[in-house]
Amino acid sequence: MAWCDACDRLVEDDDAVDGACPTCGTQIIDGPSGPMPWKFRLMIVATAVYLVWRAWQLITWLTH
Ligand SMILES: [Zn+2]
Repeated sequence: MAWCDACDRLVEDDDAVDGACPTCGTQIIDGPSGPMPWKFRLMIVATAVYLVWRAWQLITWLTH
């Protein structure tokens, strides 16, 4: 169930058309192509930082 600001009413998930309100077409439910959860993005950033740190350690180890 999602809230449509434009229609000022609740829309059942079954009534939504591709995650959009059937009345006005406003996107109200994030589909598979919607924005990534911020936790998932944070995990990717943390993994990238870790890999850069490991690469830096390897470079300093190789150059000493
Ligand atoms: Zn609507």
